[in-house]
Amino acid sequence: MSTRTLGALTAFAGARWGRRPHDRPGLVARQQAALARFLAHVLPRAPFYRDRPRTLAELPVVDKATTLARFAEFNTVGVTLDCALEVALAAERSRNFAPTLPGGITVGLSSGTSGTRGVFLVSDTERARWAGVLLARLLTAGSLRRIIGWGAPLRIAFFLRANSNLYATLGSRRIAFDFHDLLEPLAAHMARLNTSRPDVLAAPPTVLRLLAEAASNGTLLIAPRQVVSVAEVLEPDDAAVITAAWGVPVQQVYQATEGFLGATCTHGRIHLNEDVLHVEPEWIADGTATPTRFHPIVTDFTRATQIVARYRLDDVLRAADGDCPCGSPTRSLAAVEGRADDILWRPGADGRPQAIFPDVVRRAMALVTGLRDYRLEQHGGEWRVRMQPLDHAIAVSVRRELAAMTARLGAVPPLVQVLPWTDTPLTEKRRRIRCLVR
Ligand SMILES: [Zn+2]
Repeated sequence: MSTRTLGALTAFAGARWGRRPHDRPGLVARQQAALARFLAHVLPRAPFYRDRPRTLAELPVVDKATTLARFAEFNTVGVTLDCALEVALAAERSRNFAPTLPGGITVGLSSGTSGTRGVFLVSDTERARWAGVLLARLLTAGSLRRIIGWGAPLRIAFFLRANSNLYATLGSRRIAFDFHDLLEPLAAHMARLNTSRPDVLAAPPTVLRLLAEAASNGTLLIAPRQVVSVAEVLEPDDAAVITAAWGVPVQQVYQATEGFLGATCTHGRIHLNEDVLHVEPEWIADGTATPTRFHPIVTDFTRATQIVARYRLDDVLRAADGDCPCGSPTRSLAAVEGRADDILWRPGADGRPQAIFPDVVRRAMALVTGLRDYRLEQHGGEWRVRMQPLDHAIAVSVRRELAAMTARLGAVPPLVQVLPWTDTPLTEKRRRIRCLVR
């Protein structure tokens, strides 16, 4: 057995069967101990942190722009941004994702559509641990029995915009791992799926929905026992279509350049991976005394190649209410709603800009009957809605629901412009609701 497989297995066993704190104080105590070790021994190995204080609260909050601009100072292996990008882009161009930097370091690129792409480095050990923890969090008892049994291996079909060594780590004799490159047309994927008949189907929700529709009309003949949504926000209407197609709940993986951040539990909440991460919520004001949405400021105390310390993510997370019935003491989310630029803005009653969260917009749009799909962009005072089907009665209804929703929030209703639908390629990340100009 290779050291990598052993590493993944150890991480798997620890995350699945290891002793875990049953209450919040126990979890916090364990986190603090791990954080103290990280701050004392790992952090100073990155030039950016060499002369900084060794307490979390005193460290600066950093973001993607800072860590990219000073890339070499944020890793402990002396890799420059140019060098990392060269390896990653060459792999993406050739669609051969095997090359790594010396020392088994892998470069990953995030697939953001706006702004700068994220770049990250992981070592062989970190990669193995990541794979182990991911599988431990996701696999159901049924899938696990398949892996440790004697029959056919567990087949996982994974759809990605770009492969990475990260994902190839998951393959082994008991797990058959099929990578589907989203640059290929959907028909090619369907043919492959009909042959391979995966047990686990993991893809962005846009793709899961297209496959679910094909399954419902009989052109796709697979019966996955697990369906996992990755890389994009899973919206309730897509979740409903996908669940109806295969009769299993859609699990969600919340993952970013910054690591594996969370996954759904059996009760449908997304739990943050607080076994390996420390998360400080930066609450987003919503006019109430107790806001429920926040941007996470993340510290990963298990990674030692690229330092993630007080890293502020642009994501908008909605905290769930109270403890989760599943019993896990980790912080749970009702939803990953989107990113900061998914928030729309209208003048409020006092004339000041008021935030309109994507989830609220989605619920208003869900009230429109006959609407199959839409994309909404804010351009200043105008909200442009591309919709299908483009129908007069539906357009009237869209305008009515958006006006009612903004009025309910005490904001001035927007000017709504209705436009015909245009398809977007599979490789593009779906952002249904976006603010282009505030
Ligand atoms: Zn739970």
